[in-house]
Amino acid sequence: MTGSLTVVGTGPGRPELMTPATRAVLDRATDLVGYGPYLDRIPAGGAGQCRHASDNRVELDRARHALSLAAEGKQVVVVSGGDPGVFAMAAAVFEAVETGDPAWQALDIRVEPGVTAMLAAAAEVGAPLGGDFCAISLSDNLKGWSTIERRLKAAAEADFVIALYNPASKARPHQLGQAFDLMRKLKDAATPVLFVRAAGTPDAKVVTASLGEADASVADMRTLVIIGASTTRRVGRWVYTPRRESTP
Ligand code: SAH
Repeated sequence: MTGSLTVVGTGPGRPELMTPATRAVLDRATDLVGYGPYLDRIPAGGAGQCRHASDNRVELDRARHALSLAAEGKQVVVVSGGDPGVFAMAAAVFEAVETGDPAWQALDIRVEPGVTAMLAAAAEVGAPLGGDFCAISLSDNLKGWSTIERRLKAAAEADFVIALYNPASKARPHQLGQAFDLMRKLKDAATPVLFVRAAGTPDAKVVTASLGEADASVADMRTLVIIGASTTRRVGRWVYTPRRESTP
């Protein structure tokens, strides 16, 4: 049988937020490749389905491993959290294709969309992404901090709502605080800041603050941070960004 490789995302956590298309691809897989905790979210597949769990740091190696299994004729599914194209495995797979065995370019490679953390987090609090927004990863594992600062500044100057992925980890405890310091020079102190932990799961927790008072230590690696635009506002216990530029 000809091999294939499909990159999927499990969604933010709750099983209902994994798409039926992703579920169907997982059911047909002979081999699952991914970070252990993401593989653990997937119910046991048919007999003979093989799971290749790895730690989180070696995305490119994992992608190459998946491609070589597909080249052997396996039906391979690479598993990410959320959406596989957002700060996740899909880009690593294409980087491995670009730099690896030219024969890999002939493989049947597909990407299934999933519910990314930013969307699940927004839904927990109302409609903070109602206007124009952008997403920035604060992780400097694969890019320099100066690039991150330049993008944060440009996003603040353009008055985007800003979704911050990877706001903090044990190895990177200080970057969110630095990002807030930068934002405080460019944005109103009353701007809403949302910390949404474990969005789209039964453990979801939201902390709403103002930029002036936001405490970076609230965030951990399961938190998505949203910094409002100038029009982002609270109504009751919700936060939303109106679609129109001037509010009614
Ligand atoms: N591909 C994933 C993102 C991977 S980057 C996606 O599309 O969601 C990992 C970061 O995503 C985490 O550090 C955190 O900022 C965010 N994240 C992932 N799942 C989350 C969840 N359930 N709630 C809040 N943030 C989450």
